[in-house]
Amino acid sequence: MLRCRPLLLLAVSSRRHVMDLASVVSRLDALAPPALAESWDNVGLLVEPTPPHQVRKMLLTNDLTEDVLEEALGAGADLVLSYHPPVFKALKRLTCAHWKERLVVRALEKRLAVYSPHTACDALANGVNDWLGRALGSCVSVPLRTCSSPSHPSGYGHILEFGGDVPESMLSRVSALQGTCVRTYPLRNEDGARVRLSCSHNALLQALAILSEDPEVYKNAELLTLQKPPLLDTGMGRLCTLSEPVSIAAAVKSVKIHVGLNHLRLALGRGKTLGSSVRVMAVCAGSGSSVLSGVPADLYLTGEMSHHEVLDAVADGRSVILCEHSNSERGYLRELGAQITQCLEGKVEVVVSQTDRDPLLVV
Ligand SMILES: [Zn+2]
Repeated sequence: MLRCRPLLLLAVSSRRHVMDLASVVSRLDALAPPALAESWDNVGLLVEPTPPHQVRKMLLTNDLTEDVLEEALGAGADLVLSYHPPVFKALKRLTCAHWKERLVVRALEKRLAVYSPHTACDALANGVNDWLGRALGSCVSVPLRTCSSPSHPSGYGHILEFGGDVPESMLSRVSALQGTCVRTYPLRNEDGARVRLSCSHNALLQALAILSEDPEVYKNAELLTLQKPPLLDTGMGRLCTLSEPVSIAAAVKSVKIHVGLNHLRLALGRGKTLGSSVRVMAVCAGSGSSVLSGVPADLYLTGEMSHHEVLDAVADGRSVILCEHSNSERGYLRELGAQITQCLEGKVEVVVSQTDRDPLLVV
């Protein structure tokens, strides 16, 4: 009996640190819903070894370079979460001639899965932009561009109202659409009986086809397309209003500490000095110009902007801090790692890459 106990403990312990890839992916998708990502992006599971694939260890990285891939294999990882999708443009062949193709070939040979959340995490409440927005301390933060709910959760995205002298047979045929995502509500007002349908797009087309058989009924029908309200704490970029204004010099110091860098690039807004005050800061992790352009703020904080985009901001009196693309995102991986550990109930070991770094250095 005594001899069996260590073996039993070992079996329990090894079971605790493993999870099927499909379960891991569905939980990662729930944490950062792919529907929040930009339409041009390529997020979710990108490389899948033949199932079943068990995940014991996950490596988080900003970019999956060949150095990071070797680190993942050396560390015995079964899954790499790469913030940026290493497979973005369509691959027409998988040879060893190009580094992106080699990544996929090596990953599949070594049974290493690859997942990318990218702009889903950009948009997320408590995602990368909220992390970057805390660079100057406590603030009230709102997204610069809000996201809508991905779809009407019930599937009933349209309201069709009609009434008047509706033939009984027509009413019963519309009611018979119930099974195809239609709810009917009898209404009564000064015009007499009216019927309101809450329905899906497909059911709407079928209902309209039935109503069109009576030109008078069809002409008096009214249609409303429902929209979900925006998700107030979810979206691209953040506008951060500080509780206490700080000088630009103090902002530079705080950002260096927050992102862990000794050097940044700073452009002072027209007429501004290092002593000028910052109360409102607009942030966008990564490449910020499309989100930040024209936003009224004392300071823009992002990874990269082009020369001409910086000139535009400066001319409007806005100062700009650039810390290079991935440096504006990498520090968030520690927070993401903690969130993932929690959502996987500690069943998968989550580690952050040591070799991942921005290719650019300010020297
Ligand atoms: Zn990025």
